[in-house]
Amino acid sequence: MIGELRARIPEGPIQDKWERHRFEMKLVNPANKRRFEVIVVGSGLAGASAAASLAELGYHVSCFCFQDSPRRAHSIAAQGGINAAKNYQNDGDSVWRLFYDTVKGGDFRSREANVYRLAEISVQIIDQCVAQGVPFAREYGGLLANRSFGGAQVSRTFYARGQTGQQLLLGAYQALSRQIGLGQVQMYPRTEMLDLVVIDGRARGIVVRDLVTGAITSHAAHAVVLATGGYSNVFFLSTNAKGCNVTATWRAAKRGALFANPCFTQIHPTCIPAHGAHQSKLTLMSESLRNDGRIWVPKKKGDTRRPAAIPVSERDYYLERLYPSFGNLVPRDVASRRAKDMCDDGYSVVPGGHGVYLDFTDAIARLGKSGIAERYGNLFEMYERITGENPYDAPMRIYPAPHYTMGGLWVDYNLMSNLPGLHVIGEANYSDHGANRLGASALMQGLADGYFILPYTIGDYLAQGKLEPVDVSHAAFRRVEAEVRERTSRLLAVNGSQSVDAFHRELGTLMWEQCGMSRTKAGLENGLQQVRRLRERFWKEVFVGGKGEDLNQSLERAGRVADFMEFAEVMCLDALQREESCGAHFREEYQTPDGEAKRDDARFSYVAAWEWTGANSAPVGHHEPLSFEYVHLAQRSYT
Ligand SMILES: Cc1cc2nc3c(=O)[nH]c(=O)nc-3n(C[C@H](O)[C@H](O)[C@H](O)COP(=O)(O)OP(=O)(O)OC[C@H]3O[C@@H](n4cnc5c(N)ncnc54)[C@H](O)[C@@H]3O)c2cc1C
Repeated sequence: MIGELRARIPEGPIQDKWERHRFEMKLVNPANKRRFEVIVVGSGLAGASAAASLAELGYHVSCFCFQDSPRRAHSIAAQGGINAAKNYQNDGDSVWRLFYDTVKGGDFRSREANVYRLAEISVQIIDQCVAQGVPFAREYGGLLANRSFGGAQVSRTFYARGQTGQQLLLGAYQALSRQIGLGQVQMYPRTEMLDLVVIDGRARGIVVRDLVTGAITSHAAHAVVLATGGYSNVFFLSTNAKGCNVTATWRAAKRGALFANPCFTQIHPTCIPAHGAHQSKLTLMSESLRNDGRIWVPKKKGDTRRPAAIPVSERDYYLERLYPSFGNLVPRDVASRRAKDMCDDGYSVVPGGHGVYLDFTDAIARLGKSGIAERYGNLFEMYERITGENPYDAPMRIYPAPHYTMGGLWVDYNLMSNLPGLHVIGEANYSDHGANRLGASALMQGLADGYFILPYTIGDYLAQGKLEPVDVSHAAFRRVEAEVRERTSRLLAVNGSQSVDAFHRELGTLMWEQCGMSRTKAGLENGLQQVRRLRERFWKEVFVGGKGEDLNQSLERAGRVADFMEFAEVMCLDALQREESCGAHFREEYQTPDGEAKRDDARFSYVAAWEWTGANSAPVGHHEPLSFEYVHLAQRSYT
């Protein structure tokens, strides 16, 4: 293994760790910062905030994204909000409570020190974004408004209607644009990172493909930051943008970075159900809707009456019944599993067996249509445009769908992977969410990483230096470039008869069935065999078409699907070895009599970090033990 699996958590009481660490870390003096080049791959909330902040400090930054503009990164899709422990509502929130909710929500599979820091920084993020002009919703008196998200009994979610991600990204993008204008950031849109270059055990650059011309080139730097988002599209159908993929992190894993907890994938409870074999994407209905919407199914199986014709006494508001304290605001893993259970038991409200109601009748009676439109107007419009049904008149129909990935590249407290010089931020790292992320905490984490953590920790790495001067003429760049070219040619040369999308769909279906919302030993073993067979077929039968030296979207997708095919195997292995249920990882063999996830802390209180050992040998699992000093290990309860 390259580097070390050492978390580097600072000593001392948890509330002092970050403060003390910031003081103890080495600084790069302002004049010396100009001498350092940093590559940031990704321009979503994590990447854009990091690139802008590093450039503002004086580093030279090269920022890459595959979209035509940084502001089209997938972060723009985030709807519901961003958490912060501001306690504007005076309802009992605090940094400690956000910390506690997040550790418990993640089912005790995250690092306490990281989570505490995240909660602590959350309050700074809001101030920074307000200063940038992000138009958060406000109360009549001018204070910022809040709503509630799952897994919390306080209102701490800041929002800009149903477009929070877009507004936050515009804030980060404007900070990034300023630095592009000043020449501190060189932006490379429509450019895909296809490999990482490691020299003397350190990350020193990347190899990219220009998606318009097909040119393959190298870029050298003193440090590389990956902010490349999550891998939910391994399931083919997900709420993520079509372009989201695992390529950057997986290629880094193949160069020695450890991949942590790949099987921790989040299935979001409130999405528009899939409606046909030709669908290529699923649509999220934000969790914020669970503030006012009530989830129910008819008490009678197969009841085909219109929802309005079913009297309240004949409805099962099952989340309110099973979890009276949290009701419709239980965490996502719990809400998703219960929806699946209801549908599996025959209570679905959608033909085909995959849907429950999310009903706003009571909220409309309480707040009026205009009150609801003010909070969720754009989400209601989106639902109506997709389904043809007006949710002001009839309940929405929803079902769980792949949405977010808690797994990612392993990082230490400084957000550096085991590969020195390779930092990983945002959804691309595994860091703070354990086995289940709470709603509105991804935006918080991405911005905490980019605006407030990395700018300190990368300086600490660079200041410790002794980095040899390296440029793209180094033999390592030539070698990796040649490998990238060879792989591209190989994909084009297969010239089979099945489309890339057909393979991706097949992979997604099998991952959903064997490694999706619930998993079993037999299913995972079967899944592993099927993934291997599918991968072999892919390399014999895929048809890509076109050529490498051109705009070729089929080639782009083929490379990403090829990586998903390799990565899927590690996901299944990870799920197989974790013989417990925790958070979103639900192994049917390990559940309480009430059907809740049953952890095995004695055996599995660790982060699993997988080392790639080559195409023909099994990856090796390493463990980072987790200990809980401040939030005591307990069976999660939301009743
Ligand atoms: C529909 C939806 C709604 C959501 N709503 C919320 C919400 O309300 N609150 C919340 O907290 N979270 C929400 N989330 C989750 C949240 O949006 C994401 O976790 C977060 O935005 C990820 O940000 P990121 O910067 O890590 O990655 P992304 O925004 O995904 O950005 C990834 C960047 O990496 C680039 N990239 C990737 N691979 C490569 C490569 N190989 N080469 C070059 N560039 C590459 C992309 O071009 C892009 O710029 C939502 C997610 C979805 C799907």
